[in-house]
Amino acid sequence: MTDRLAPDYTEARRRFLAAAEVAGAAVTSHPNPEAVGPDGEQLAVDVARIGPADARSVLVVVSGTHGVEGFAGSALQTRWLTGPTVEVRPGLALVFVHALNPYGFAWVKRTNEDNVDLNRNFVDFADPPANPDYAELAPLLVPDRWDEATRQTSTEALLAEAGRRGFDETQRIISGGQYDHQVGVFYGGTAPVWSHRWLRDHAPGLVGPAGRVGVIDLHTGLGPWGHGELIVTPGRDHPIAERARRWWGDVRSMVDGDSVSAELSGDWLNVVEELWPAAEVTAVCLEYGTVDEVSVLQALRGEAWLFGESRRLGHEPGPGDDGEAPGPAIRAQVRAAFADDDPAWLDAIRPRFDEVMVAAIDQLAG
Ligand SMILES: [Zn+2]
Repeated sequence: MTDRLAPDYTEARRRFLAAAEVAGAAVTSHPNPEAVGPDGEQLAVDVARIGPADARSVLVVVSGTHGVEGFAGSALQTRWLTGPTVEVRPGLALVFVHALNPYGFAWVKRTNEDNVDLNRNFVDFADPPANPDYAELAPLLVPDRWDEATRQTSTEALLAEAGRRGFDETQRIISGGQYDHQVGVFYGGTAPVWSHRWLRDHAPGLVGPAGRVGVIDLHTGLGPWGHGELIVTPGRDHPIAERARRWWGDVRSMVDGDSVSAELSGDWLNVVEELWPAAEVTAVCLEYGTVDEVSVLQALRGEAWLFGESRRLGHEPGPGDDGEAPGPAIRAQVRAAFADDDPAWLDAIRPRFDEVMVAAIDQLAG
C-alpha cells in the first residue's frame, strides 16, 4: 500500500476497490451516465459495505462530496479498509461511499460538470436562499479575464471589500451559497444534480433497517494545515449536535459561528433526517486544513473562470500570450489547495480519522 495520495481519480478508485476486495466488502458501483472523466473514463459512486445486511447500526463514511477533496477522503477510506483497525462488530455495518461527486474528483474540481457545489444543492429550488450581497462581489470574484494583471487588481479589490465588510461577513457572502451566478463560486444550481439525486435514491439502501446511523463526510480546505475539525450543520442545542459532542467531544457548529466554516445553505448533512427518517442519525463533517483561505479562494476563482471560459468557447482555452494553456495550471492550483501531496500531510490527517472512526464505532456498536 502506498503512503501517498493517488495521482488521479482513476487510480484512487482502483486502490479503493482493491482495498474493499481485500477487506471482503460487498461492493456496488453506480456510474454517472451523464458525464465522463478527462480521458473518457467512467465516473461512478462506489459503495463498499462490511457487516450484516440487517445491522442495527450503520456508519456511513463519504468521500468526494466536493470532488477534488476526495483525494484525501479516498486515501483515508482505502487505508481503513486495508488497515489493522478493520474488525466486524456484531450488529454494526460500515458503509464507505467513494466519490459522491466523481466528476469533480476526476476533473480536479470542487464542483460538478455544471459548476454546481453539491453542498449548496440541497435546497428547495421553488424558493432558493437569497444572497443579495454576492452580486456586488461577483465580477471581482470571477472577472472576464484571468491574466496576472486582472488577478492582481481583482484580488486587491476583494481584499479591500473584506476590510470594509469584515472577514467573517465576507466569508459568509462568498461561501454561504448563491443561486444566480453559474460562473461563480459556491454556486448551488437550479435543480438537484446527479450526485444529489443518487444520494436520495440510494440512502435507504445504504443503511437498510438500521435504527442508528452515523455519518462522517470527509472534506478538506478549511482550517490549519493537517488539523481535522468536526462540524455539525445544526446549532449546538440540536439533538444531532448534542449526540455528536457525546460521541466525539469537541464538535463545532457551523451556525453558531465557532467553526472554520461559515453558515451555509444546501449542505447534504442538512437533510440527513429526511434521508433516514426512521433512524437516529448523528452526522458530522470532518474538515481538514490545507493551505490558507486566500490561496483556497484564488484556486476556486480560477476554477470558476475556467468553467465559464470553456463554456463560452465550447472547449478549454488554449495557450495565452505567455504560451501556456491556463487549464492545467488552474487544476494544479486547485489540487494543491485541497490535497497536499506532501506525505507529511497524509500522516498528519490519519490519526484524527482513526480517532473519529473508533469513537463512532464504539458508540454505534455499544
Ligand atoms: Zn468540502
